[in-house]
Amino acid sequence: ADKLEYVKSKIGKHIDFPKKGIVFRDIFGALTDPDACVYLRDLLLQHIRAAHPDVELIVGLDSRGFLFNLLLATELGVGCAPIRKKGKLAGEVISVEYQLEYGTDTFEIQRAAIKPGQKVLLVDDLLATGGSLRAATELVRKVGGVVLESLVVIELEELQGRKKLDCNVHSLIQY
Ligand code: IMP
Repeated sequence: ADKLEYVKSKIGKHIDFPKKGIVFRDIFGALTDPDACVYLRDLLLQHIRAAHPDVELIVGLDSRGFLFNLLLATELGVGCAPIRKKGKLAGEVISVEYQLEYGTDTFEIQRAAIKPGQKVLLVDDLLATGGSLRAATELVRKVGGVVLESLVVIELEELQGRKKLDCNVHSLIQY
């Protein structure tokens, strides 16, 4: 609980970013602090080891999810893979389009990234409306993976993103 409070105290808060009316929660505020980095790693690992010891692959979302997927994978002795915005991944990719506040965006995963039946943990820095992790869940399932959970550092509870997700959801810090 002390580690969690410490990390939370270091998360940045930016009013009216990226536009007026938005309160932007900034994980990079915590990552410049060496103790917060270690505590954040410890907290994520502690949760995964307790809740999902059977995890086989960590999948991080473009782009702040990548801060965690390799880190967690190496600690857990499993592999990792990225989900990226359209056009960035080579080879055979599977795509899912999802809604943004204005317009749409597309996420992709390499088909070869996931073996059929592989148990996957999705990771990102923050859950807002849930559109990104919903699309990510769809992608993992399309290539035959099983989603154990969507794991985020920060959850913006008022946006009720977890209601949009039909998988387990876990967050360390809530606003
Ligand atoms: P969602 O799809 O609405 O849940 O938005 C989640 C995605 O947008 C994540 O990849 C976040 O990195 C990013 N995002 C949304 N709001 C914030 C914020 O307040 N701080 C940092 N990232 C955010």
